[in-house]
Amino acid sequence: MEENGLYRWDIVVPAQRYVFAIDDAEVTEFNLPGELPHERFQRYQEMKKDHPVHGMIAWPNTVLLRGPLTVIIDPGIIMQGPPLLLGLQRLGVEPEDIDLVINTHHHVDHTHANAYFPTITCVMHKWEYNRYLSEFRLGFEPLNMRLLEGESGPIGRNLDFILTPGHTAGSISVIADTADGVLVVAGDTVGPLPSYFEEMKLPADFPDRDDLLRSWRAIRDVAPDVVIPGHNPPMYAAD
Ligand SMILES: [Zn+2]
Repeated sequence: MEENGLYRWDIVVPAQRYVFAIDDAEVTEFNLPGELPHERFQRYQEMKKDHPVHGMIAWPNTVLLRGPLTVIIDPGIIMQGPPLLLGLQRLGVEPEDIDLVINTHHHVDHTHANAYFPTITCVMHKWEYNRYLSEFRLGFEPLNMRLLEGESGPIGRNLDFILTPGHTAGSISVIADTADGVLVVAGDTVGPLPSYFEEMKLPADFPDRDDLLRSWRAIRDVAPDVVIPGHNPPMYAAD
C-alpha cells in the first residue's frame, strides 16, 4: 500500500473481556461500562472467590498490517471472525487481499478464527506448532503453514519476528516498521496487567517469570514506539 515500504497498522477488533457468574442458574454480569480489559481481569480475580461457578470470556486484539504485505495477526476466538470480516470490509480489505495470517502463539483464543482464512498461509513458530502436536489441538490450522525457526528472523520486508517465550515456549513478537515508528505485536507475552511491563516487574510467584522478564527485555531492545499486547490496549513509548 505505502510506497515507502512502511506499514500502516490498525486494531480491527480490540481486545475485551466479559466476566460473569452463574448463581442458581442465573447469570450475573460483572462488567462496568468503560472498564479496561485488565480492570475486568482484576474484577474476575476478586469475584471468583464468592462465586463458585464463574467465567471469563476474553478475546485478543486482532491487528491488521498493510504495507509490503497485508497481514492479519491473531484472528482470535471463533466468534471474533464475523466482526473481524466486517471490520476488514469497512477498511476496504477483502479476504483475498490478505497475504499472511500470523499467530503469536497457539492458544485457541488467538488461533480459532484462523478458520475464517482457510486458504491463506499461516505463520507461527515451529516450537509452538510442534508443542501442540503432542498436546491438545483446538486452534484451527490452515492447510498452508509456514513455520518460523530460531530466535529471530524476517517474515517479510520490514517485518520480522523475535522469539519471546514465557506465556508459551514458542510465543513470538512481530516487529513491523510503520509510519508511527517501530511496532511490536507481542501477543500474551505482554500482560496480564499493563503495569507489569511498564515497570518491568512481576510477582515472585508469577508462572515463567524469568522467561517473561527476559522476553520483555528483548522487546525493549528493539526500541518500540508502540507495543500491542494480546489482551490490553496499545502501549506507547514515552517521548
Ligand atoms: Zn490470549
